[in-house]
Amino acid sequence: MPEIVLKNVTKTFGSVCAVDDLDLVIPDGSFFTLLGPSGCGKTTTLRMIAGLEKPTGGVITIGGKTVFDSSSWTIVPPGKRNVGLVFQSYALWPHMTVWDNIAFPLTVKKLPMEERKAKVDAVMQQVQITGLGKRYPHELSGGQQQRVALARELVTGADLLLMDEPLSNLDAQLRLEMRAELKKLHRNTGQTIVYVTHDQLEAMTMSTHIAIMKDGLLHQVASPDDIYCKPANTFVAEFIGGLPINLIEASASGGIIENEQLHMRLELPDIHKTVKGKVTLGMRPEELRIANAPSKTTVKGTVDSVLPAGSEVLIRVRIGEYGLNIKERRGISIDMGEEAYVDFNLGEAVFFDADSGVNLLAG
Ligand code: ATP
Repeated sequence: MPEIVLKNVTKTFGSVCAVDDLDLVIPDGSFFTLLGPSGCGKTTTLRMIAGLEKPTGGVITIGGKTVFDSSSWTIVPPGKRNVGLVFQSYALWPHMTVWDNIAFPLTVKKLPMEERKAKVDAVMQQVQITGLGKRYPHELSGGQQQRVALARELVTGADLLLMDEPLSNLDAQLRLEMRAELKKLHRNTGQTIVYVTHDQLEAMTMSTHIAIMKDGLLHQVASPDDIYCKPANTFVAEFIGGLPINLIEASASGGIIENEQLHMRLELPDIHKTVKGKVTLGMRPEELRIANAPSKTTVKGTVDSVLPAGSEVLIRVRIGEYGLNIKERRGISIDMGEEAYVDFNLGEAVFFDADSGVNLLAG
């Protein structure tokens, strides 16, 4: 299984810089997701790894072998990179049965029938479509078509699977199921998977590593947990999380963080006592709570909205110019227009430099 290394990789389309001087190491056996808003350069990066797009500059190696080098103009064609590609559109042959679609890459290679049969049957079992071999693509559900497309790539025994938004055509329920199955598949095969999505939940639930991109630039590479808890900057912090993170301008010194206009003056816990200067305080909605009484970690505000959401209640409290998102337990008794004390669990706070937006404590 290969490690993929991109060094100073750039791709421009005319005046558009789609990928800007990208350095990336995709570890062997990882489920590595390229995540970011539309147009950030994820697909272009994937296509350069696959060999479908020629970089403007830089070096790409797969398993120690240079597949692209702009200085020597080394270019290994896609067919010789031993990668499997699964795209958003499954591109199944409509006139071929499921079995023939999956067997197609082996048929092209003129593999003996017996070997072909053994491999196709094995992958069909792996992606749980045994019994569908005689059907045609139009007789399948979206999820089944997606599995056939996946099986067609797995059957080739490619070292590396590249996937570009493969679940985006499925309905919510199927997406959930396929997420679990892709994760299981990765666990079972240990294959390196490079996955492109703009869906942060998809990235968080399946990946071992996430690379966050914006405007062609890489902002952070880390585990899903670290991306969530230790975002490199305010862009990553805001991009990740179902309910947006709360970002509040403040200044810190001597173990106190304050914002006079908000009448906010909070005592920092020991682990954050050294934070000082002008900062942007980042609080995830689940780290804010409604308190019964004021304390050294509360700020007073007014309840703007109360949205019960089944297992939890989403509350918005206005404090000066800020509307803070709070995730509270189900059944809390609170109403719009009431005064409320918002308790800050500052042990879980994230502090960013107020000017650059860079996480002060990441490292
Ligand atoms: P999406 O999630 O919308 O697919 P993305 O993050 O995958 O977006 P890319 O498709 O890699 O983004 O595109 C990055 C930038 O490069 C965009 O500004 C896009 O318009 C531009 N771009 C991509 N392909 C081409 C092309 N063939 N010609 C010109 N510009 C292109």
